Amino acid sequence: MKVLKFGGSSVAKPDRIRGIINILKDYYAAGDHFTVVFSAFGGVTDGLIEMSRLAAAGDDRYGAAFQEFADRHQDAIAELLPEGSMLRLETSAQLRKSHEVLKNLLYGIFLVREASSRTMDYVLSFGERSSSYIIAQALQHAGIPAEYLDARKIIKTDRNFGNAKVNFEKTYTAIRAYYAEHPKVQVVTGFIAAAKGGLTTTLGRGGSDYTASLVGAGLQADAIEIWTDVSGVLTADPRRVKKAFTIPKMTYAEAMEMSHFGAKVIYPPTLMPALRQRIPLYIKNTFDPSFPGTKVSEENNPDGVAVRGISSINNVALLTLSGSGLFGVPGISARLFGALAQQAVNIILITQGSSEHSISFAVKPEDADLAKEAVTTSFEYEIERGVVNPVKVERDLSVVAIIGENMRYQPGISGRLFQALGKNGINAVAIAQGSSELNVSVVIPREDENKALNALHEAFFLSDYKSLHLFIVGVGLIGGTLLKQINEQNAYLRKKLGMEVKVVGLANTRKMLFEPDGIDLDNWKEALQTSETNVDLAVFVGRMRDLNLSNSIFVDNTANDKIATYYEGILDESISISTPNKVATSSSYAQYQRLQNVANKRGVQFHYETNVGAGLPVISTLHDLLDSGDRIRKIEGVLSGSLSYIFNNFDGSRPYHEVVMDAKEKGFTEPDPRIDLSGKDVGRKILILARETGVAMEAEHVQLVGFLPPGAMEAASVDDFFGVLEANADYFTKLLADAASAGKVLRMIATLEGDQASVGIQAVGPESPFFLLSGSDNMIVFTTDRYSERPLVIRGPGAGAEVTAAGVFAEIIKIGKFLS
Ligand code: ADP
Ligand code: ASP
Ligand code: MG
Repeated sequence: MKVLKFGGSSVAKPDRIRGIINILKDYYAAGDHFTVVFSAFGGVTDGLIEMSRLAAAGDDRYGAAFQEFADRHQDAIAELLPEGSMLRLETSAQLRKSHEVLKNLLYGIFLVREASSRTMDYVLSFGERSSSYIIAQALQHAGIPAEYLDARKIIKTDRNFGNAKVNFEKTYTAIRAYYAEHPKVQVVTGFIAAAKGGLTTTLGRGGSDYTASLVGAGLQADAIEIWTDVSGVLTADPRRVKKAFTIPKMTYAEAMEMSHFGAKVIYPPTLMPALRQRIPLYIKNTFDPSFPGTKVSEENNPDGVAVRGISSINNVALLTLSGSGLFGVPGISARLFGALAQQAVNIILITQGSSEHSISFAVKPEDADLAKEAVTTSFEYEIERGVVNPVKVERDLSVVAIIGENMRYQPGISGRLFQALGKNGINAVAIAQGSSELNVSVVIPREDENKALNALHEAFFLSDYKSLHLFIVGVGLIGGTLLKQINEQNAYLRKKLGMEVKVVGLANTRKMLFEPDGIDLDNWKEALQTSETNVDLAVFVGRMRDLNLSNSIFVDNTANDKIATYYEGILDESISISTPNKVATSSSYAQYQRLQNVANKRGVQFHYETNVGAGLPVISTLHDLLDSGDRIRKIEGVLSGSLSYIFNNFDGSRPYHEVVMDAKEKGFTEPDPRIDLSGKDVGRKILILARETGVAMEAEHVQLVGFLPPGAMEAASVDDFFGVLEANADYFTKLLADAASAGKVLRMIATLEGDQASVGIQAVGPESPFFLLSGSDNMIVFTTDRYSERPLVIRGPGAGAEVTAAGVFAEIIKIGKFLS
């Protein structure tokens, strides 16, 4: 004998019911003995609660809600049974009669303005009674000898309406007796039961699973099958963790923990009756019947997987009793939990520090006030004397739990748990580990629940790849190139590094686009164009924060100075940053320091390798030198691609202003070339390098030795500026000629020695590494204790979208590796 249960989601629509009838036809054709339990049609129980609430509030809209309920069932009959058939007429009439009772009942509630839990259970029974009756008739029509069974005949409970306790002995006896006399395929109403005197009770929300398990245990069935809308028990709630996957086998204890900690797919009391009689429980997908789903039994998995699943309870309150008066006093817990038990407060989780100075416990939010009052009353004397503190209540918390029988054999699980939470900036408010080590639960802020579940899932399950969530601002030359590179490289990253780079937020100055599942990078331009208006970057940053995704990285591809003011807040939200934008790192030292500190405090990454030398590994090399104990004696560099281009092309064949004009037209300089020529930009780069070596330097401490003739910097416009350059053509020619006569070339060189930084034009001879530079090359020369005779040189193109974007990309991957 098998017991099959189909949940509300499986019977939400008539075509789904037809699918179930097909599944059952196969069972019947195979000669299997089975009985079926049904929930109310999806959403009906909630609907019944709502119409009662309206009626009790004196709101006559309950009538329309009732009508919708009645019509939905009549429509289902019309869909499932042939027009004009006796069966259809009979079914329709029978339900109309039954629903007339419900209508009167609701009117009664409307008149007395009151719906007690006892009345409510009766109201709710119409959901399961209606669905099961219709389906029993439809099964008959399909040729299965089915018979409707009202579970009130077989499931006996106490009078705890809304959540009645089952009397197992009476129930099992009744089940056996009933089935012995009814050989047909019984179609049982889930969820509902009866107390003494025939009063209707219910088994708690989600209780149809329990009905199936009780029937299975009563009949000593070979298997209990819970058919639902997902493919078994998954490693996490699939609505919250997209990468969750089916757990093929788990133990009763594991399933019990999962369901207790929020996995709605099995109603917690369901497991006990099955476990006692060792009946295997299968969780199957109505929409994918051939998929094996999950088997829950006593067999432990020999696979050695430590964490079987991850679950969460969405909303709890944490109460804490603390104070010196708790220390070494026996019986405190007894008093505390006795007081709570007296008020029937259910405790979800308990933790006590070993110093015994505090005990914290989690309860449902609606129980928090009652719990606080009970404990306060119980410890009134101590609280008044000040040896126990007033009870502290923290709200808006969630519990996340990792679950698995094999955890007890593996050290390091908690370490991985807390590391995953920590790297995502999730604060563990309280921690509990059962001594059976079947679960480790952590109380966290509720707003971080989704992020925590996803981060833990990635930490514990070898899902095919880890997702990085990028929020990119600036989609111009660098940003656009970066998106192209990511798109081209993603397949490789998935395969080689197990990493998927998802761009989930994108903005330019006009528009912004969000897609938590990842923006399609083949069409990002069109999607961004038709997306919402970017009113303010604060909105973008706010949305990024609210999405609260694990492994989030903010990428600023602009040169905008306003964006940089958001960095501190972003890092403080535990979001890493990668940027070629120099504004933040070259602003005040205090600001630079603050950003480093926040990143450290939050355990996130703040990287800006492309601030100096574009994609060249300058800052990372500097760190490698410092970290490995080298001492920097001197850093020299040609750090501007624009200036390199200008000086490498100024060979005397053309006047200087023409070379600058040519560089400007080729896009090698800023629109106003003075920003480059003044050495200001290079100054910011050497400033950043100085800071990276630990020097607390401000921008004004960098000595800029100008070489432009008088009037150039002061010129009112760029055109005027070119005029000044032209008028001074001889001056530049002479600069060049002087150098050439000494066998030298001109280079704009930045130098850092100790805490002295300067930028200026120098004539260098063949002995200098800078002598042979060409094109827009950058070159950085590190003279250190270890690289003293022959310095360490980094050379290559120091500008250009491809190499800069690649530098940012590499940095994103580096951050991704850190986050794993
Ligand atoms: P039914 O109507 O069949 O009783 P439920 O809605 O009660 O279905 O339970 C199934 C739902 O449980 C799934 O749709 C899923 O959203 C949720 N769920 C939560 N955690 C898990 C999990 N770990 N595995 C599978 N489903 C889960
Ligand atoms: N119909 C009931 C509910 O919605 C029971 C169930 O679906 O298991 O809670
Ligand atoms: Mg359910």
